[in-house]
Amino acid sequence: MCRHLGWLGAEVTLSSLVLEPPQGLRVQSYAPRRQKHGLMNADGWGVGFFDASSGGDVPRRWRSSAPLWGETSFESVAPALRSHCVVAAVRSATVGMPIEVSAAAPFTDGHWLLSHNGLVDRALLPASAIGARAESVCDSAMLAATIFDRGMDALGDTIIELGAADPLARLNILAANGSRLVATTWGDTLCILRREDGVVLASEPYDDDPDWEDVPDRHLVEVSADGVKLTALDHPKGAR
Ligand code: GLN
Repeated sequence: MCRHLGWLGAEVTLSSLVLEPPQGLRVQSYAPRRQKHGLMNADGWGVGFFDASSGGDVPRRWRSSAPLWGETSFESVAPALRSHCVVAAVRSATVGMPIEVSAAAPFTDGHWLLSHNGLVDRALLPASAIGARAESVCDSAMLAATIFDRGMDALGDTIIELGAADPLARLNILAANGSRLVATTWGDTLCILRREDGVVLASEPYDDDPDWEDVPDRHLVEVSADGVKLTALDHPKGAR
C-alpha cells in the first residue's frame, strides 16, 4: 500500500513536510516503517498543495511515475514552495494497475486533492459516476472519481458501503480542499500529529516525536479550524 501525508495549518515549505523529516515520505519511498502490504513505494509520487497566491483554494500538483528518492528537481524547488494545506503520497502499485503519472495520487476534481492507500474491486464502482472523470483506470483514480461524484460530505457513508460490498477492500482516504483535511482508516494505519502550527495526518510518523497518536481502524477524521474530530465508521451514522 502507499503512504500518504496531509497538512493543514500555517504556511510551511513542501520540503519540510515531505523531504526533510528523518522518516518522511522520501524515506518511506524506500524504507517505510509500518507498511503491511508491499515492501517499498517506488511506483511514483505526488505532492498536491493549495496555492495561497491564488486565494488559497486552487489545488496544484507535482506528480511522477518515478521513485521520490531520485527526484533532484523536486528536491531543488520544494524548499521554495509553501502552502497551508498539502496532500502528498508515495505509491506502491497494486498488481495489475498501470504505472503512469496519472495513476499517482493526489487526484483532483479541481477543488479537492485526494489520495487512496489500499485497493478496491473496480467492478463495484459505478460507471456512471466515473465516466470520463477518472484520471486513470487505476482503482484509486476510479475510487477518487466515485468519491468526488458522491460528495465529500458523504465520504464516511461511501466508505462504509464499499467496505460492505468488497470485504477485501482497504479504503484509507486522505483529502483536502484548502480549509478542511479529511481521512478514513479502513485496513491500514493513520497517525495524527497536533503541532503548534497545524495538524499532520500521515500513514506513519515522519519522526520519533512521542506526540504522534494512532487513529483506530474504521474511523473518519476531520480537521478544520474548529479542531480534530474522530467518528467511528462501524457504528450507525453519527455515532462516535
Ligand atoms: N491500488 C492503488 C494503486 O495501485 C493504491 C496502492 C497502494 O495503496 N499501494 O495505486
